[in-house]
Formats: sequence, C-alpha cells, structure tokens
Amino acid sequence: MLDHHTVYVDLETTGATATHDRITEIGVIEVNRGRVVSEWSSLVNPGVSIPPMIQALTGITNDMVALAPDFEDLHHEVLKRLDGKLFVAHNARFDYGFLKNEFRRCGVSFNARVLCTVKLSRKLYPHHARHNLDTLLERHNLDCEARHRALGDAKVLWLLAQKWADERGPTLVQGAIDLLVKSQSVPAGLPDLAFDHIPETPGVYLFYGDNEVVLYVGKSINLRARVMSHFADDHRVNKDMQIAQQIKRIDYRETAGELGALLLESRLVKQLAPVHNRQLRRNTQLCAWHWRDTDIEAAPRLATAGDIDPAKFGELYGLFRSRATAIEALREIAARHELCHVLIGLEKRAGPCFAHQIKRCRGACVGLESRAQHALRLKEALSALRTLPWPYKGRIGVREVATNGEIAELHVLDHWCHIATVKSEAELHDISETRATPTFDVDTYKILKRFLAKLPRGVEIIRFAT
Ligand SMILES: [Zn+2]
Repeated sequence: MLDHHTVYVDLETTGATATHDRITEIGVIEVNRGRVVSEWSSLVNPGVSIPPMIQALTGITNDMVALAPDFEDLHHEVLKRLDGKLFVAHNARFDYGFLKNEFRRCGVSFNARVLCTVKLSRKLYPHHARHNLDTLLERHNLDCEARHRALGDAKVLWLLAQKWADERGPTLVQGAIDLLVKSQSVPAGLPDLAFDHIPETPGVYLFYGDNEVVLYVGKSINLRARVMSHFADDHRVNKDMQIAQQIKRIDYRETAGELGALLLESRLVKQLAPVHNRQLRRNTQLCAWHWRDTDIEAAPRLATAGDIDPAKFGELYGLFRSRATAIEALREIAARHELCHVLIGLEKRAGPCFAHQIKRCRGACVGLESRAQHALRLKEALSALRTLPWPYKGRIGVREVATNGEIAELHVLDHWCHIATVKSEAELHDISETRATPTFDVDTYKILKRFLAKLPRGVEIIRFAT
C-alpha cells in the first residue's frame, strides 16, 4: 500500500452475508504515493429494510437511505474509483465479497488485488491475539471521528497504515504487503486461509462446489503451488474462472511421488466424473488390431473389449476408442504405405483390389509383390502403433519415497494394470493373498508406459518372486 496505488474501502451493510445482505454505505479513500488523492462516500439504498440492531450500530436508518441512489445507479462511479487499484479493507474478504456480488447483479465482473488489514496487522504484530478494528485503534492510540460509518472507518485504515509504517519501518511493511498480495486471490467461496494448510508435496487435489459436487480433480508434484495457480489473476483460463466462482471447499491426498499422483488422479477422475475435467471415455469401446507378424497369410483382425488382453501386447496394434477410428487408422496406413486392401482385410474380393486398380497398392493381390515382402512392409507400417509387451515377469512394485521421507508407497503393478498401492508390509501381504484379475485401463497403460520408460531418480523397481 506504500508503493501501490491504493483504495482504502469500508462498507456498511444490512447484515453479514454477502449473498443476500446489501450495502447501505460505501466509503473510499484513494491514496497514491503516500498522499490522499480523493475521499468519497455515498449512502446506498439497499432495497430492503435495515434491521433495527444494525440501524442502532451504524446510525444509518431506513429514512436516511430512502432517497439515496441504489448500487446500480452508483456502480459506474464505484468501479471508476476502485478499478486497477490495490483494494484495502479490514476483513477485506467481507467488503470485497459484498462488492463483487453487487457488481455481479449489475452484470459487471469486479476483480481486484486485495489486501486485508487484519492479516497485515497479524503479520506485523504476531504477538497480539486480537486484531479487530476497535482493538487496533486502542492499541495504536488512534481516534475515529465516525466509527461504523463507511468513510470514518476507511480513514482509520489509512491512519493505521501510516502508523505501521512509522513503527515497523516502510521496508518491512512493504515486504509484508507484497507477500500478502501475492499469496491471496483466494476465491470468494473459500475461507481466507484456504491455501495455507495445503502441503507443498506431490498428490491429488479435489475442488468441491455447492452440495459437495466435485468440480475438478488434478495432480501435481507441488500441491499448494498448483492449487494456487488455478486462481492466480494473471493467467486465468475460462475453466478456472468458473471454478473460482463455484468452489466451496478444497480437499487433497498426499502421495509419495509422481506415479502415485498420476494413478490416483486417473482413478478419481473416472470415479467422480468432476464437472470441469475433460471426461475420459470408458474402455468398453476399446479396439485394437490383432496381428502376428509371423502369420503372413492372415489379415489383421479387429479385437474389441475382452480381447484387449495385455498378455497379447506386442501382437495388438493401436488401442483405439472406437471401431471407426481403428478402421480409419488402418485405411490411412494402407494408403501411405501402398499396402493391399485385400491382404489387410479392408476389402473382400478375388483378384486386384480397388487400390491396385488406381495404382495405390503395389500388387500383392495380383502376385506383383510376394506375401512375405508385403507382410514385412505391413509390420513396419504398424510399428508405431504396436502395444508394448509387459517388460517384466509378472508382478512388480514401484517404490516411491517422499523427499521429506514422510511417505513411502509401493505401487503393485502387473501387465500394465495397477493392482494396488500399499504403504506397509501388512498391506502388501493382504493383496498378495487376493489374486483377482485386474481390469485393463488404457489410461493406466499410458501412464505406466511413459513412467517406466524413464524412471525418475530415487524410484525403485521391486521384482516379486513368482
Ligand atoms: Zn491389392
């Protein structure tokens, strides 16, 4: 607030809830380069009756606001005064939340960098337990000429700011402010310190909205940084804007390392179908081409569902999400490599295939190319689509240990399937008792293929005796 172009803001309202209570008065002190540039305040007609208790507290009565403009009349003026400046208020979440809601009713999305003077006071004077405005006034020997009126309270905040800069020194105060401004941008639906308890470890985070609806599931090797990046003002994508408006609660699960986070995220996204995750389609339509490069007489055969067996990997090509994409892919490969449509099973007829008639097949169908030669070219053409045979003998364990040493996890895997993640010998024993056939999941396959191809440092593979 020392370096920043700042507005000290205070509101009086009809009650404590930003969603249905309304503003009755706004006070704004604008300060630039340490000087007051303007002071402005206005009563606001809330459109509802002010409860007697609040009238008594603020001295703002129904009669006083009866002829005042309503927020909509004022919103251009208010926006002009606040826009682009550092928004400073005591319990800023309250004032900011009220203003955001009032602006929203006028169809305006109001966003500002916010500094809460309660938080700043706590940071500068951590040994004091209480930081409400009356306590601060008394502690710092300040008078307020109009306590509980918007402009009066806004002025007091400016006085406090100057007092703090005197007592603590401008450098220290500026540092504390910069830290607070940077670490905030907590969405309105979350408590002020919502990010503070999130660890900087690998894991999976879950965003919840109203009625515990799961909005989003994500993973990171640094949970707190990733969660905060969703709400950083400078590079917000549309999806994050929507999440910021809907979010009510954050939950997280720590994992020992990256693989644990990847596997857990993939499982939770399928299980919970969060509103803002791109939905991965189920495996039921999964297709692949089955072909043995030793069987040169046979055409590739379309394998589906139960035939997609990791034990056959190496002879399966593709892993497509539908029949149509599988056929399209083979057609494209045939065209690119001048393969014979009859030999690869795309066309059923005797004699030259249609492709040969238009000179797109090298003529294996009419004896111009040997079967063996054609099979060799098909093998090469399909190589990029070849599924990878499980490179181990049966089950393995992948051991990840957290950098702080607090969590160790063993991911038990078999033929590209994730059997379980265990944290102790006892758990490992339990799962070795049960030998249920795991279900193949294409996303798990992709995760494991990528991860096992290049193991991060410190990750250990354990081969179980079979
Ligand atoms: Zn042909």
